[in-house]
This record gives sequence, C-alpha cells and structure tokens, in this order.
Amino acid sequence: MFLERDLSHRRPGGSIEVIAGSMFSGKTEELIRRMRRAQFARQKVEIFKAKIDIRYSETEVVSHDENSIPSTPVDNSAAVLLLSGGCEVVGIDEAQFFDKGLVDVCVRLADQGVRVIIAGLDMDFKGKPFGPMPELMAVADYVTKVHAICMRCGSVAQFSHRLSDNEKQVMLGEKNDYEPLCRRCYNTK
Ligand code: ZN
Repeated sequence: MFLERDLSHRRPGGSIEVIAGSMFSGKTEELIRRMRRAQFARQKVEIFKAKIDIRYSETEVVSHDENSIPSTPVDNSAAVLLLSGGCEVVGIDEAQFFDKGLVDVCVRLADQGVRVIIAGLDMDFKGKPFGPMPELMAVADYVTKVHAICMRCGSVAQFSHRLSDNEKQVMLGEKNDYEPLCRRCYNTK
C-alpha cells in the first residue's frame, strides 16, 4: 500500500505526487483524501481542473461546508501558476487534459516549496500514454498507480475500454461509455 508516512508531514522543499490509473480507479477520491488531510493540518489548499472536464458541477468537489476544497476550472497550465499564489498544497484533477506546459508548472511550484498532488488517466482508450501524464510521472517524487476492477473477469484492471466507436482521444463519459478491463480482457475485447 501507499507509503502514507512519507507524505503526511510537510516537506519544506515541496514535492510532486502523481496518482495515475484508468477510469473508475478512484483517482479523484484519492486526490481529495490527500487534500482533506492537508486541510485538516490547516494548510491552504486548492484544486485545479481543466475546463474541458464538464462532467462534474463545481459543487461536486466543493461541498458547501467548512471543509470544502476550492476547485477552480482553468483553461491551461499557465493559469494554474497564476492562480495558485499562497497555496501550500495544489491539487490537479484530470491532468491528462492539460497541455504539456503543466510539467514545468508543477516542477516550478514544487521548487517553490509547494506540495503538488496530481490525479489523471495514465492511458487513453487505446492504451497509449495520455497528454502530460508520462512526463509528470517521470518528474514526480512519488507515483501511485490505482486500479479499477475488470468488468468482465473481476481481476485488477488498468485499461479504459471505450464502448462506442468514437475515435477522438478526448471523449468525456461515464459508466455507459467506458468499462475498465484487465490486460487479458482488453486484448481480447
Ligand atoms: Zn479481465
């Protein structure tokens, strides 16, 4: 399991953590769990997500209680740098939708002492590395791969199989559009 003790204390030098996995693997839940823990430690936190991800209303991440985590939709990675002033912990959700400039932005923030926690799809529906995720995983201090459960055989799944014929890399969808599959089932789909 994840080495929580390595991350539960603040690293003065900043750090980059990547939570990578397929659809339905619980990436965002893990991101929010870590952000909440930082919040309990009274650190200033904020989550940024690409504006393209319109599946969730803003209120889904920002539940309106005192423990809500501010979530800001942004157009590009430069906006993350501009808007994260004063944050001790910066969360990035659906990082695969960002431009490649996100890598430099995250390194810069970490160098400035910020704890950066990134959640994203490691592979697209074709099983190819998605957007800036491979580079982010390379520069990260910590990488956690989370997994879904294969819809066909019940073993551990890492592929997001698209159920429609749409060939575009970016197609937002939910349970009716994708199914998580293990390697064997993905290769015989
Ligand atoms: Zn399977």
